[in-house]
Amino acid sequence: MAKKVAETCSEGSTLRATLNLIGESVELLRLSPAVYECLKVPMRFVEVSIPVEMDDGKMKVFTGYRSQHNNVLGPFKGGIRFHPDSNPDEVKALSMWMTLKCSLVGVPFGGGKGAVVCDSRKLSLKEKERVSRGYVRAMGEILGPETDIPAPDLYTDAQVMAWMADEYTHIKQKPSFGVVTGKPLPVGGCVGREEATSRGCVIALQQALAVLDIPLEGARVVIQGAGNVGGYSALLLEEEGCKVIAISDSRGGIYNPAGLDAQAVMAHKKKTGSLECFPGAEPVTNRELLQLECEVLLPAALENQLTADNAGQVRARVVVEGANGPTTPEADRIFHERNILMVPDILANSGGVTVSYFEWVQNNYGFRWDAATVNQRLNDKIVEAFRAVYQFNREHCPNAGMRTAAYAYAIQRLAEAMHYRGWL
Ligand code: NAD
Repeated sequence: MAKKVAETCSEGSTLRATLNLIGESVELLRLSPAVYECLKVPMRFVEVSIPVEMDDGKMKVFTGYRSQHNNVLGPFKGGIRFHPDSNPDEVKALSMWMTLKCSLVGVPFGGGKGAVVCDSRKLSLKEKERVSRGYVRAMGEILGPETDIPAPDLYTDAQVMAWMADEYTHIKQKPSFGVVTGKPLPVGGCVGREEATSRGCVIALQQALAVLDIPLEGARVVIQGAGNVGGYSALLLEEEGCKVIAISDSRGGIYNPAGLDAQAVMAHKKKTGSLECFPGAEPVTNRELLQLECEVLLPAALENQLTADNAGQVRARVVVEGANGPTTPEADRIFHERNILMVPDILANSGGVTVSYFEWVQNNYGFRWDAATVNQRLNDKIVEAFRAVYQFNREHCPNAGMRTAAYAYAIQRLAEAMHYRGWL
């Protein structure tokens, strides 16, 4: 069943792999094929043109996408990325993962995702603002605090969310900050949201290391990506007593087997814009970095970084997927065969959407929680989700990996909701 639809998207694509996994879960759970039919395509996919006046006065037209995958559990929810390689299949797959992620971690949202095809590093701040506002003008009709709520993703941040909330407020002629999450604190943001995805990764990692009886203190961690997820993960892991031995960005990485000073590394990156020339560390390529000996590998950059070509050389005990889709299905199989514990993206990086949900709740109630409340509730959600997936894996699919278990556990919950809503 999965094969039939998967054939319509390109060989080796992330979307195809996702559809295969959904199909396998439906079969594993012996669910009605209608569940697969409901999940195989987004409920709505919108492509728009966004005309933007550039700083030189010329007009440039950008392409924007929004995929609203499934809202059986609640309003669509998911980030918007600014990336030159974004394409419809990628955005659709990312929106499917959001549906699964929200179900898995137990937040009442459906899955959505958006993108603007652009290289945000080549945009001035003003141009970036105009692209952000243009996206909301083009998509305004389908967004809303009760219908579809975007958040930051690759190369978008709290500032982008603030522009988007402001533009939406102008369109609606009333303050509607709950239309996006991941906002700065003065415009309805939630304390702890910026580092929430990383905090969730750290909590999931603590659970994984406990299962393997590996002490957190002194565990060597290698991180690919030094943006929101990778950067905050480095800082939080250092606080927990781990040794961050390597980290990279798009230009390459740095390595010190004795451990890097994560605070100093991130300060250097902020000041110089790159990791290059960080004192007391040797340069490594992104390829070399993924093969360094460590307890934990935390990919936190792009999709398809761990593949059949390099999975055999990975020397980690645990892979925690901070990024969405960093591991191809072939690499996943290799890790399973090699007994490397995989904490899959829909579990590992679900801290972001969890605290986005907390932000949305606070916006709806006009009430602020303190950091201790946010972090405790986040901890409870991730621990509960990790334990549920781990147990599901042992009980229902012991010969498969954690990803299969996470998908099946999430799809079971979605199927129950579909059943009660009369969709099946
Ligand atoms: P970001 O833009 O803040 O950071 C991305 C980082 O990856 C940057 O340091 C960039 O230099 C680096 N990078 C880009 N290309 C690279 C390459 N080829 N090799 C190594 N590093 C490279 O983005 P982010 O928000 O940290 O998102 C990273 C990943 O995490 C994405 O897959 C995103 O979908 C996922 N994610 C993010 C959130 C969130 O809350 N921000 C939540 C869940 C999942």
